[in-house]
Amino acid sequence: MSEKFKNLINGVWKEPDGGKYNENRNPANNDDLIGLFPTSTEKDVNEAVAAAKTAFEKWRLVPAPKRGDVLKIVGDIMLERKDEIAFEMTREMGKVFAETKGDTQEGIDTAYYAASEGRRLFGINTPSELPNKMNLSFRVPIGVAGIISPWNFPMAIPTWKIFPALVTGNTVVFKPAELTPKTATTLVEIIDEAMKIVLGKDYIPGVINLVHGKGRVVGEAFLAHPDINLISFTGSTEVGKRINEAGGKMLKRISLELGGKNAQIVMPDADFDLAIDAVLWGAFGTTGQRCTATSRLILHKDIHDEFVEKLLVRVKNLKLGYGNDKGVDVGPCVSEAQRNTVESYVQIGINEDKSKLVAGGKIAKGPGLEKGWFYEPTIFTGVKPEHRLAKEEIFGPVLAVIKCEDLDDSIKILNNTEYGLSSSIFTKNVNDAFKAVRDIQAGITYINGATIGAEAHMPFGGVKGTGNGHREGGWTVYEFYTEWKAVYIDYSGKLQRAQIDNY
Ligand code: NAD
Repeated sequence: MSEKFKNLINGVWKEPDGGKYNENRNPANNDDLIGLFPTSTEKDVNEAVAAAKTAFEKWRLVPAPKRGDVLKIVGDIMLERKDEIAFEMTREMGKVFAETKGDTQEGIDTAYYAASEGRRLFGINTPSELPNKMNLSFRVPIGVAGIISPWNFPMAIPTWKIFPALVTGNTVVFKPAELTPKTATTLVEIIDEAMKIVLGKDYIPGVINLVHGKGRVVGEAFLAHPDINLISFTGSTEVGKRINEAGGKMLKRISLELGGKNAQIVMPDADFDLAIDAVLWGAFGTTGQRCTATSRLILHKDIHDEFVEKLLVRVKNLKLGYGNDKGVDVGPCVSEAQRNTVESYVQIGINEDKSKLVAGGKIAKGPGLEKGWFYEPTIFTGVKPEHRLAKEEIFGPVLAVIKCEDLDDSIKILNNTEYGLSSSIFTKNVNDAFKAVRDIQAGITYINGATIGAEAHMPFGGVKGTGNGHREGGWTVYEFYTEWKAVYIDYSGKLQRAQIDNY
């Protein structure tokens, strides 16, 4: 009998209303059942939100440095359990152990950043225009934050959202992706444990709540709930639009991190080996299932053929397999549905776009791959900027190679998508590099680096269809989780009318 996991509501691990559960299986080996996770209902959400609302009245009064102490302990526990967390994350979503360790480290970095932010949360003071009067402004928490996350960064993305929400004094109801409930459970266990260590007898139940389940049920219940004040969502553009529409109607504060169609440009003066290392890492790391994945490679016409030839030699050496086994470079797609999407885009590339398939293009077969959702790393050449392979997010191990005329043309092609998350250019020419930084329409640009590899203390997010203008990471995310309060202190002893008595 497989283990049944629970929701955390008001400090108590509980079975879901209705008692229904969903299986969580290893995408590299479908025989491996990880556990059964709650298929929660609206009733569970209502209970969790009520708990979070009550807890907010106490948690907001805990001094921010003390709230930061909780995050410090969270980071310490995550560090201690890093290998175990990474192993289980690989088991539930497939990316290789080195990457799940990186995913966990990003959470640790975010915890320590949040811990230190508890002792900053700087306000701004400015002189008053009137005598004997003082003007202050500082940040205040907002209320209950609904956190909805995807499966591709099961630890890092929830921590980017939950840790700043907590340290600023908000309380949280967290709905993780259905495909990665185990990592989410571990994270919430750790937060709850740290709360108990730091607050002791003053422990506040309901500061962090976990409600597993389907987006269409649990997620939708978040959108409709009047007591959820903020929603932070990372996921597909389709769902993001729905959240913006439904949550916007209720005047919720909403942060959206959506899709990407990222490109790497290679100019003739680039270091080829470095550019190949980067494109392999960017296109096939996490099996191409990153919002920042390199899904387009834009090659200058003078080096196109030579670069592709070298790339094809290297791509054949990538080893597919279970990500917890040594020497494996690429894991499976996260699910059968995701692999079907990849397969359908490969057919579009062949039949509709009439691009040239030069690597992969098939379900991967071989010893150890029979029971997983493996797909061969795939490359198309001859892709045109207007083709579907060049414009639509695939979220799998498929790279579209596009030939360009010169720098201006490469940037025009790169910008020719509805998204604007990450981007990269390989060149040794400083003038070209700076022009690219100026003209590329993306939230993130790498010079001589892969499109993937964000650091926890830098702004993260995209322009155009990738989001709604908010940034996660670093200092920028703190704007989302707080309101500004302006305070005027008049010690003149008389009524002073601004703009009237002084002019
Ligand atoms: P998804 O949109 O299918 O699901 C994301 C989350 O939303 C899940 O928890 C899901 O249960 C929930 N959800 C689904 N329907 C909902 C609804 N109607 N109301 C509320 N919640 C709902 O995305 P996914 O397949 O988990 O993740 C892949 C997508 O995420 C890709 O498009 C990728 O580009 C994007 N992504 C973006 C970033 C970024 O920072 N920009 C990072 C990672 C992933």
